Amino acid sequence: MTPFHLHDDIPPWEDLSEELLDAIQSQTEWLYHVPNSDPDKDGLLTLPAIVLPDTIILPQLLGPLMLSGEENAAAARAAAEAGTTVAVFILQDLEKENPTWGDVFPIGVEAAVAPPYTMPNDAYAALLHGRRRVELVNILQTQPYPIVQVRPLAETQPDDEESRALRQLALSTMEQFVELNEAVPEEVYLYALNTDSLGWLADTMVMALSPTHEQLMAFLSTTDPKQRLSAALKHMQEALARLELEDEIHSRVQNEMDRNQREAYLREQMRAIQSELGEGDFWTQEINELRQRVEKANLPDEPKARALKEIGRLSQLPPMAPEVGILRTYIEWILDLPWTEETEDNLDLAHAAQVLEEHHYGLPKAKERILEYIAVRTLKPKRPRQPILCFVGAPGTGKTSLGKSIAEALGRKFVRVSLGGVRDEAEIRGHRRTYIGALPGRILQTMKRAGTINPVFMLDEIDKLGNDFRGDPSAALLEVLDPEQNYAFSDHYLEIPYDLSKVMFITTANTLATIPPALLDRMEVIEFPGYVEEEKLLIARRFLIPRQMEESGLEPEEIHFTDAALQRIVREYTNEAGVRNLEREIGRVCRKIARLKAEGKRFPKRITAKSVARFLGPPLYFDMETEKEDEVGVATGLAWTVTGGEVMPVEVLLMEGKGNLRITGQIGEVMQESAQAALSYLRAHCDEFGVDAERFENTDIHIHVPEGAVPKDGPSAGVTMAIALISAFTQRPVRHEVAMTGEITLRGKVLPVGGVREKVLAAHRHGIKTVILPEQNQKDLAEVPKSALQALRIIPVQRLDEVIKVALLPRPAAAENKAAAEVTPTPDS
Ligand code: ADP
Repeated sequence: MTPFHLHDDIPPWEDLSEELLDAIQSQTEWLYHVPNSDPDKDGLLTLPAIVLPDTIILPQLLGPLMLSGEENAAAARAAAEAGTTVAVFILQDLEKENPTWGDVFPIGVEAAVAPPYTMPNDAYAALLHGRRRVELVNILQTQPYPIVQVRPLAETQPDDEESRALRQLALSTMEQFVELNEAVPEEVYLYALNTDSLGWLADTMVMALSPTHEQLMAFLSTTDPKQRLSAALKHMQEALARLELEDEIHSRVQNEMDRNQREAYLREQMRAIQSELGEGDFWTQEINELRQRVEKANLPDEPKARALKEIGRLSQLPPMAPEVGILRTYIEWILDLPWTEETEDNLDLAHAAQVLEEHHYGLPKAKERILEYIAVRTLKPKRPRQPILCFVGAPGTGKTSLGKSIAEALGRKFVRVSLGGVRDEAEIRGHRRTYIGALPGRILQTMKRAGTINPVFMLDEIDKLGNDFRGDPSAALLEVLDPEQNYAFSDHYLEIPYDLSKVMFITTANTLATIPPALLDRMEVIEFPGYVEEEKLLIARRFLIPRQMEESGLEPEEIHFTDAALQRIVREYTNEAGVRNLEREIGRVCRKIARLKAEGKRFPKRITAKSVARFLGPPLYFDMETEKEDEVGVATGLAWTVTGGEVMPVEVLLMEGKGNLRITGQIGEVMQESAQAALSYLRAHCDEFGVDAERFENTDIHIHVPEGAVPKDGPSAGVTMAIALISAFTQRPVRHEVAMTGEITLRGKVLPVGGVREKVLAAHRHGIKTVILPEQNQKDLAEVPKSALQALRIIPVQRLDEVIKVALLPRPAAAENKAAAEVTPTPDS
């Protein structure tokens, strides 16, 4: 049988010196030869006794024990000298102070003992070799060392199927246990493997398990080997399960560490490959470059600190990490936005006036206001709280180009952004970076384009801002425009306050009606009224034609547009308050000529009214010229649309029926109500007009407003509908050269309307001679160009009777009978 060797690395004996170890080695041999003591005739052994609190040497095991106390050392010495064995016991209760023999656990072990040696701390230690379990019977002496009588406990050696299976299981469990438990030397397992006694195997296992005091007492007192082995196995399996769990945790941690190490290794390799390829350590290089850019950029403290912090985060990431792109974009944004770059304002008023005059015809109010604005800046250079200008007018009336001229006059950058259809606050203020693909909002995107912190910034189409569940963009816009707040504008993406206070904001809109009131409140409105034909011709000559010729590559003065040609373009190819389409059509003519020139063909030097049709194809608009004759049931109204004024014929048709009213054409609710009001007025006054009240019961009325493409609404067609109705019922023709506008009340009063300037200009364009206007609108005529007013007869009215007097002709005699025939049912129908 291979003995359980004591060797160098038995752990609890850290204090053992080399010499001691040698001594122990030599003693080991000797110990094995000490014979077991012989029992007397009563089967008892009389032995010196050693009592230790909680350690013992189990049978068949060899090991050193610390012998506390002089008595123990003396007992060991006596036995060693006599070459006999000792009895070793433990205490029953470790808590007990000053234990006596009554406190000793009655089952102990007989063991051979080598002469004890003194430890450096004056304690004693001795090597022991366990032999067999003994039971305490008698204490014969206690001083100078205890001598006791003990009875050896016999142990069976079962060899049945069950024991063999148990042994196998115990060994395989122990094998795993030893493998996993680093504190137990592998020799313990080898020793166990060579033990055929179940009891010894059990004891070996128990010692490998470092049992608790309780367990030790239980094991000592279990003399049945099978029982003991079963118990030891159970403990070992539990210990093994714990070890396996620890091992699993350990290996998980290890795996994690391994993976990190592997990545680090691979990254190192990648660097090596890159430097081999001459790319250097591109990532570190990139990070460094980025850092240098931030250091060099003229950033204020906050964005700078933020950028450096994000670069710090970036440098922690491997170059291929998904966050890299997001972080980089963010840092680039900080770098690309203007933070301090500023252009110096040119506050020379004469220069500004000159620039505005050079680029724009007319627009006196707007120009004047802008010069005032610049003047205030000169006097109060430090952040003047000037109102935001809002340019309102139809498309093509020069709002944008005037904005550009302001920028030019001041020597500032010009940028614009359209707000048309913006419904989401995030479009103004950006998305938080947690969104995939998040970017700053339109304001900061445009600031980036501007590249300076003080551009002229045009916010187009604020009348077309939407709002819905995604948040109200006008609230964000308020913050942009409010000088109290916009020095620290917060964009969700950027997260750092951004100073917009030096920006000169100008907003534009086609109509005031749909601008959110809170916004309108902050702004000073400058109206851009449409142009009359003469103005358009002037603008075309001075600005549009030279520009379009140049853009088409034609020499200045190479071609000449006659007045008639321009007039034709204005009347038949455009229908607008501004000059945008006019410019486009002029451009088309220029390009056609440029092509002829480029092909080496002959081209006309003079563009006449006739050649216009050749170049531009058939006309797009026919003069509505209204009716060429005075007719019954048709009146000419004047309407306002976003593109300017329009003439709007209203037709009324009467049919035999049940008194229904039908209204068609692209008309809104308010206009339907005006029609009802007009009809009610007529019914209430039918006597005055000589209309039989019964006719309303058996006549269906159809009101139609042609030119349906443009939706129309508003109450201003009231007068026109009333006149058309009265004309239809009375058969009095409407004078064809009269146009009218005005709201009516049920009692026939004519109320003022909006858009007078555009309406009057439209009437003028369409060759109308007389315009009937609500009296209260007379003040608006100041805005109508003189040339138009001179060509028109304007008739201010307060009541519908006045309109009737001007607009309706007397009933022709021939119509009398016809009218009667029309509505009087024939007897057999
Ligand atoms: P808006 O912004 O009001 O829609 P734009 O400023 O784009 O109009 O004007 C359209 C074109 O008409 C531009 O080329 C502009 O130069 C020209 N234009 C408009 N009004 C004038 C004007 N009063 N004088 C000179 N050119 C003008």
